[in-house]
Order: sequence, then C-alpha cells, then structure tokens
Amino acid sequence: MLVSCTQAQDQSKGETTTATENESLTAESGALISLSGDTLDPVEKSAEEWETELTEQEFYVLRKAGTERAFTGDLWDNKKEGVYVCAGCGLPLFSSETKFKSGTGWPSFWAPIRDGNVKLKADNSLGMTRTEVVCARCDGHQGHVFEDGPKPTGLRYCINSVSLDFKAGAEMKP
Ligand SMILES: [Zn+2]
Repeated sequence: MLVSCTQAQDQSKGETTTATENESLTAESGALISLSGDTLDPVEKSAEEWETELTEQEFYVLRKAGTERAFTGDLWDNKKEGVYVCAGCGLPLFSSETKFKSGTGWPSFWAPIRDGNVKLKADNSLGMTRTEVVCARCDGHQGHVFEDGPKPTGLRYCINSVSLDFKAGAEMKP
C-alpha cells in the first residue's frame, strides 16, 4: 500500500487510489523503523540546534523547505544499490529499488521505503497545489510527490539530494 498525493490534487489517476491513502496522510502509520529494524522516536530540535548541526544548504532545504537547483545534487544520477536516509536524522526514506530516471535533475522514486517513514502535507506555496514530502521522524523537508510517475504506483517522489544521505549496499530490515 503506497502513499499517494491524491488528497491535495484531483483524482485523475484512479488506479493509484486505495482506501487507506487518506488515512495515511493524517494518521500515524505505526512506529518508525531504522535500517536495523529498531523502532525510533520522533526527533524534535530547535531551529538553533538544527542550524548548528546541519550545513547551510541542508538547513535551507530540510528546515526551510528550500529546493536545490536541478542537476546540482550528488544523488540524482546515483545508480548504486542501497538505502537513502534522511540527512537530518538518519531515518531510512527511500531505496535504490524504487529509484528511477526522471530526467528532472533530482533523485526520483516511485515509492518510499516504508509508508510510515515519510509524511505528506498539502503545500499551496508559490501559487501551486502540491504535496510536500517530509521525514516522519524529524519533519525535515524532502521534496514533493507528483502523480506523473512510472508504474506500479504512478507516483514520482521528487526529492532533494541535500535532504538525503546514501548508504551504499545497505538494506532495510523489516
Ligand atoms: Zn529526518
């Protein structure tokens, strides 16, 4: 069951819709799971703490919902196998198994590594209706999800390289 962004957009692609999607946008989707299968508590830090820990670019993207320029990140063209974790708190968010070539210049995935590890929020900034993708553990901004992705979900999670750290060869334990 994959999280969709249909709540904030029209439901023109009915095949990606399931009864659980709207729930997963608002309800807790269960415990957050680390790469080793441990459960993780939410991470809450002040803006000052984040600013100290993160690089300037990480702070801009993760905490200010900024966007890196297309084709400038170090992961959009990464083809290695492994797991993409949140650059803010280390929560596994995406896998090489669902990464695809989108041509956009940002890392693109057709599903998160685990439904509960990302959260979706309606984003009406910049005069557009979009669905923001954030880390479910630290609330760090990752990017947006669109409904023009490939099968099987039809979704395109368009994510900043800066928001992610890549763990080459890692696998997510269930
Ligand atoms: Zn995080």
